[in-house]
Amino acid sequence: MTKIVVYGALDAKGYEALEDSKLKYVCVPAFDLELLHRELGDAEGVVLRYHPFLKETLLKAPHLNIISRVGVGCDNIDMATARQQGIDVAITGDVSSRAVAEQTLTLMLAAAKQIIRYDDAIREGNWQLRESIDAIELDGKSMLLIGFGRIGRRTGELCKAFGMKVHAYDPFVDSDEIESAGVVSVNALNEGIAIADFISLHIPGGKNNDGIINKELISLMKPQAVIVNTSRGTLFDENALSDAVREGRIFSAGTDVFSKEPVSKDNPLLGNKRIVLSPHNSAMTKECMSRLCVKAVNNAVEYLVGDKDNVLLFEDS
Ligand code: NAD
Repeated sequence: MTKIVVYGALDAKGYEALEDSKLKYVCVPAFDLELLHRELGDAEGVVLRYHPFLKETLLKAPHLNIISRVGVGCDNIDMATARQQGIDVAITGDVSSRAVAEQTLTLMLAAAKQIIRYDDAIREGNWQLRESIDAIELDGKSMLLIGFGRIGRRTGELCKAFGMKVHAYDPFVDSDEIESAGVVSVNALNEGIAIADFISLHIPGGKNNDGIINKELISLMKPQAVIVNTSRGTLFDENALSDAVREGRIFSAGTDVFSKEPVSKDNPLLGNKRIVLSPHNSAMTKECMSRLCVKAVNNAVEYLVGDKDNVLLFEDS
């Protein structure tokens, strides 16, 4: 009987979808590699949360045909080895865009309004911090979206509702398509960075993009700039960003993602309360977790029963 291994916990609706499938499934708790490797021996499908799925694991899965990610990023999978083994990888497509876009706006607003510091101050009896006039507005400001895919587009729509002038840099999307969405297309990243009041990253991690926001680009940002990252922590230089905020060269930053997760205590972003943080939970709303888990289970099941029309496969860039 076709067997699916679920690696990491799912929402209740995900388990209901597995029950409904009538396929055999086994749940392996996150990071229990010994059990995972044992269960992979006869598995044809895997439903995978965000935990690493590396070469040593893939080599234990000789019958595996499909890895179905609960999400859209695939940088936790050793894609080269998966490809060598002829394994397809399915992603959940547009299921989480709205939740991630909402979190992007949450971080932007929290950073712009310095809400964490004001919250701390009032609890500590420091009412006078209100006189510091240390909050800025979104209205009328320039927004640069780096990446104009599913989440970038939705974030752009939300930014417009706040009265922002939205720009996008995405060399892989036709500029006419960007402009037809009422967004200004930017041809060069450094030029976009230099004119932006707010910058938000919506591109995949990986060797082509890691480190894209480096010290040099950070030095081009306006002093009132706010940069937000809900994509991958490897995209920006955390030390350079932390230095720029601490030295007042940019206004603030917000991030949901870190170069190393769970975040390590010596991460430079932790030491500065001007920078607003969240623990990679953009898509982890109650509503979105249900949608993601059901879609990932359905992708694995439909792929394995040969009904692949609605299964979105990850394509290497
Ligand atoms: P998507 O594939 O729809 O869009 C990505 C866009 O980035 C594409 O249009 C592509 O052309 C563009 N792009 C790639 N490299 C680029 C570069 N160097 N410069 C400019 N544009 C570039 O993906 P999406 O659904 O919008 O998701 C974006 C990213 O968000 C994912 O890759 C994932 O890492 C991240 N994500 C994070 C969470 C979270 O919980 N924080 C949840 C979902 C997705």
